[in-house]
Amino acid sequence: MTDHLDPHQSFALPTELAVPSSESNFLSQRAYPEPPHAYRSPFARDAARILHAKAFRRLAGKTQVFTRRTSESDHSRSRLTHTLEVFQIARTVAAQLGLNVPLVEALALVHDIGHPPFGHAGEAALDEALRAHGLHFDHNLHALRIVTSFEERYAGFRGLNLTLAVREGIIKHSRDYPPDQFPELSEYLLDQQPPLEAQLIDIADEIAYLTADLEDGLAAGVLHLAEIRDQLPLFATFYSLALEDHPAAEPRLLTNEALKQMLNALVTDLMQTIVAEAHAHHIETLADLRRAPLRLAHLSESMEAQRKQVKAFLFANLYLSPTLEAEHQHAVEVIQSLFAEWTADPRLLPPDHLARVAKEGTPRAVADYIAGMTDAYIEQAWLTHVGNR
Ligand code: MG
Repeated sequence: MTDHLDPHQSFALPTELAVPSSESNFLSQRAYPEPPHAYRSPFARDAARILHAKAFRRLAGKTQVFTRRTSESDHSRSRLTHTLEVFQIARTVAAQLGLNVPLVEALALVHDIGHPPFGHAGEAALDEALRAHGLHFDHNLHALRIVTSFEERYAGFRGLNLTLAVREGIIKHSRDYPPDQFPELSEYLLDQQPPLEAQLIDIADEIAYLTADLEDGLAAGVLHLAEIRDQLPLFATFYSLALEDHPAAEPRLLTNEALKQMLNALVTDLMQTIVAEAHAHHIETLADLRRAPLRLAHLSESMEAQRKQVKAFLFANLYLSPTLEAEHQHAVEVIQSLFAEWTADPRLLPPDHLARVAKEGTPRAVADYIAGMTDAYIEQAWLTHVGNR
């Protein structure tokens, strides 16, 4: 545990485990070849391209967990601020481990860019609407479509022309895609493990949202401090330590201390576990890592049990709570009614989306249009097209 941690402990991994930044490496390749930049690495350029994309800016208007209707708090996370918290955690871990920091930054910034409005309820609703047409909605695959096709920033090609390493990371950071089921993704080395830079994004994402959702859930009045202390020993231990140090402090401040220490403990455990796993399995190069039977980026067994406990608590008390359930129903109603309206008459789509119908088919073109919207934009579209009937 972290209380016995030597402050001088080194987490550095063998340098050969990091993705190299050289322009000549195959992972730096772009679909449309470009001359190297005078002073920026290929992945620093990708991070900047993502940061300047329209889809990135729309994350500010997309639900993470709470909306205006479900929390009176004025500081709940949006998908943008969540993304920035993942960015902060992931770059810290990458720097400590000696990985490719600009690549990790690009992957953290892009990791939620494919999410539709209304959070996970929106994603589930869009997926269900597509299933009726034999299709699926997958936010990783949608993110790949955004960066390879929907963003228009260059005169010579569509998309952001990102490096292979970033496109591979978009696809593989959170799940595996069996090569036989996804032949269209063969370019992305589906039979190999992703680099550590991509592997750690998924767990950084979990660490960010599990701690943040406890805070936002308390601020919204959906979660209660007593039940968190009662049911989550990881939180309770740090809360008690903070109380010992600051007996007169307000519960709100002790809660912040506990959440901060909890996040720190999870991150430290992740780094310790990655280093220990690399040693134990003699993984010293990127090639070793690629061939390893399992992913290296995970928590220790005991911390993983605590992570699962926090997640189960959040499902039972927050994500599936009556407060959020009403909002989920609204998301389903808005997305499914607009999807039905535009699928029945695609001429109602804006010209650029209507133009995609011939190539993609109507259901996919409609889903792509909906997936790009912010919460406020889709609410307005719903009021205009359906809601007033
Ligand atoms: Mg995320």
